[in-house]
Amino acid sequence: MKVKSVEAIPVAYQEPTDHNRFRSVCLVKITDSDGRVGWGEACSYFPEATRATAAIIDGLAPLVIGQNPQHTEAIWHQLKAHSWWYGTGVGIASFAIAGIDIALWDLQGKQLGVRVLDLLGGAVRDNLPAIASLHATDKSLDKMAETIASHTATGLHGAKVGFGKAGEAHLGFDEARDFAFVDKVLGAMGAGKDLMVDLGVKNFWDIATAIRRARGFEERGVAWLEEPLGHDDPQGYQALRQASTIRIAYGEREWNAGGVARIVASGNVDVVGLDPGRIEGITGFRKAAEICALHRRQANAHNFSTAITAAASQALSFASPACYLLELQPVYGPAQKDLVDKPVWHKKGFVDAPEGTGLGIEINEDLVESARLT
Ligand SMILES: [Mg+2]
Repeated sequence: MKVKSVEAIPVAYQEPTDHNRFRSVCLVKITDSDGRVGWGEACSYFPEATRATAAIIDGLAPLVIGQNPQHTEAIWHQLKAHSWWYGTGVGIASFAIAGIDIALWDLQGKQLGVRVLDLLGGAVRDNLPAIASLHATDKSLDKMAETIASHTATGLHGAKVGFGKAGEAHLGFDEARDFAFVDKVLGAMGAGKDLMVDLGVKNFWDIATAIRRARGFEERGVAWLEEPLGHDDPQGYQALRQASTIRIAYGEREWNAGGVARIVASGNVDVVGLDPGRIEGITGFRKAAEICALHRRQANAHNFSTAITAAASQALSFASPACYLLELQPVYGPAQKDLVDKPVWHKKGFVDAPEGTGLGIEINEDLVESARLT
């Protein structure tokens, strides 16, 4: 029942939802003395960050080997204490801790024959509405609106669209084009569907620009505006809040619950993005989501990586009263659909609670081996 081995597996794959760019993540495989296996993931995204995460996991492995995987909280604190000099709750160490922690939760669920969701205290709701999460990449606004509407026509409750990404969409740079895009997408999706706008790193809006866009989006009924001023501009968000009642989303770039507590305390975030593969795993996500719940903020899993992060996001979102929906990548991609036997998906727009034990997924190890980052 004790941890026998901890293996970091850096992988790379093409992501159709992200303009077919190559993405890297560091998977973590933890095996116990009975041969049971738990899987985790660090959402490191870039090859250099993935290799660095793997090196840190290798360095942390001796602290985990020989431990009881059910002691997730104790191990999590030990890993944070050990990495104090190079990762006091931030950076690559948080990725490494995230990957190890998710794998330990999966493993303990498998050992006990229960779901991670059970270990988290059970589901606080019967099902979760799902939305599409995608990037705008096409030059034609009509074509993008048609594509997005084709996804929501499957029952998905709306779409979160990334601006400022690869491709020719050129969104987030021109006010008239942005408003036309929003009008066309809302029109194509039809009544009852939500549109969320998510600014990318290629977009730079100053406060005045953010206020003008926010007011225009608000008039059009955009459900939330994500990272219009990046992740670290409390004064800018204060000004935006005073000028508009659009719901403001950010937080996915935080590394730990302390960071989430700081932005929640600012009073100017309504939807807090949380990535279990970044914010120190299931243990870290749970602490952060609890802060959101206590302060009546919405928490929202940044589910934009492989099927392992999706399974962790599913369990966490069902367990947290602060989570109201789950983002899904609507385009077929091997990291989502082929990596596991039962990928998280929706039925008529709703995701069911997970089944099985641990995270409820079995990993296609042949695919993992073929995707190893060299
Ligand atoms: Mg985002």
